[in-house]
Amino acid sequence: MTAGPENSPAPHGGGGNGPSGYGARRAPGGPRPKKYTRTRRKACIFCVEKVKQIDYKQAIVQRYRNKLVTDRGKILPRRTTGTCAKHQRMVAEAVKQARQIALLPFVAD
Ligand SMILES: [Zn+2]
Repeated sequence: MTAGPENSPAPHGGGGNGPSGYGARRAPGGPRPKKYTRTRRKACIFCVEKVKQIDYKQAIVQRYRNKLVTDRGKILPRRTTGTCAKHQRMVAEAVKQARQIALLPFVAD
């Protein structure tokens, strides 16, 4: 491994498709930074309340609107809301029903 030519601006060219450069690297044996604790999954708000059926009139419009839907009427992804797959599907259906009766806007621009 000899010294290469001088025109090598960066060791990594900045290619976007690679798992390298993933977050902050931790020192071996050192204490883990506490702020990086991402293991705990947020509980689904519907499972917590044992909701079996999501009523689009009540749930979407009144209670959970700011949690599940953006201001523009877009459904928030599960990773944002923490909703489980089962309930997220119900949410999607409920939002679409709510749009039909103009409780929620379609994606506005
Ligand atoms: Zn759930």
